[in-house]
Amino acid sequence: STVLGIESSCDETAAALVTDGRVILAQRIASQDEAHRPFGGVVPEIAARAHAERLTPLIEATLADAGMTLADVDAIAATAGPGLIGGVMVGLVTAKALAMASDKPLIAVNHLEGHALSPRLADETLAFPYLLLLVSGGHCQLLLVEGVGRYRRLATTIDDALGEAFDKTAKLLGLGYPGGPAVERLAREGDAKKVPLPRPLVGSAEPHFSFAGLKSAVMRAKVAMDAGQYTDADIAASFQQAAIDCLIDRTRRALAASGPVSALVVAGGVAANAAIRSALQGLADTHGLPFVAPPLALCTDNAAMIAWAGIERLGQNDPLDTPARPRWPLDPSAEAVRGAGV
Ligand code: ATP
Ligand code: MG
Ligand code: FE
Repeated sequence: STVLGIESSCDETAAALVTDGRVILAQRIASQDEAHRPFGGVVPEIAARAHAERLTPLIEATLADAGMTLADVDAIAATAGPGLIGGVMVGLVTAKALAMASDKPLIAVNHLEGHALSPRLADETLAFPYLLLLVSGGHCQLLLVEGVGRYRRLATTIDDALGEAFDKTAKLLGLGYPGGPAVERLAREGDAKKVPLPRPLVGSAEPHFSFAGLKSAVMRAKVAMDAGQYTDADIAASFQQAAIDCLIDRTRRALAASGPVSALVVAGGVAANAAIRSALQGLADTHGLPFVAPPLALCTDNAAMIAWAGIERLGQNDPLDTPARPRWPLDPSAEAVRGAGV
């Protein structure tokens, strides 16, 4: 079977064709980085317009790349949330129109489920249940993934997502947008021990994450830098190390609480970070667990992961009045934590 996947929840317009044999037949991503760069972050209205202009030709090109037409596709999967609602609506409405015109099933995919299942696209041996660290632009969660559609949230952030903290640190250091990869690059030239920064909630009995205090401390460190004891690279390195220490401490705690799992898995845009991947590999090693991380191109937003979630959900046929959802928690039973981090 082959599924056409569509992603438009943030600032990547993407389409992909993926088979149940885990083959990505074709994949196209139109990044909007240039359009948002002058504003230092994603502007929702600009994003929605760009998706509307680009998505249909992008889908046509993706089908052409694979030498296919809609008739060759078994289902159409699109992100139906969570995300910037204008963009989600463009992708979902397009998918509905294609499904209606071609008489194929529509599969409405939770973007976070796309991230959560993406490691299984790359690694056929990855079995349920696994402990997932989902670190992205809008989320920082530890999830016990028990099966498709079965997610138990063990921890979430009580304030900022880690990707957000990377992006704000980048902005503060004048590294531009998008920030994560730029901070990682600069951190390689810095000394992680130079700038003392807090590790919020490390050692806490509470399971959650917090990055707002770290972000403020980075800001204070930048202001104090005129004294000249450290460089921007030292700030980047110290920030990244503090973030890693938080991730490792919280993930270790979750491993102790989750019961037996088949693997430690990381996914989401921040999972593209090599230092974070290697620290998690070390943690998995000490627990005698396999560590699974998708290839970099599957970490940041893409449509292959949405198509793959569609493959995992084949047989589903969502109605044409399925709503686009700005918020859509993977584990609806999880309590809101201080009103944040759904
Ligand atoms: P969500 O998936 O929560 O809705 P999103 O879709 O906007 O949010 P992703 O595309 O999954 O987020 O991830 C983007 C985030 O990943 C950005 O915050 C970006 O800075 C961060 N990121 C990307 N590459 C790296 C890296 N190498 N190191 C750290 N952060 C990174
Ligand atoms: Mg992006
Ligand atoms: Fe994402």
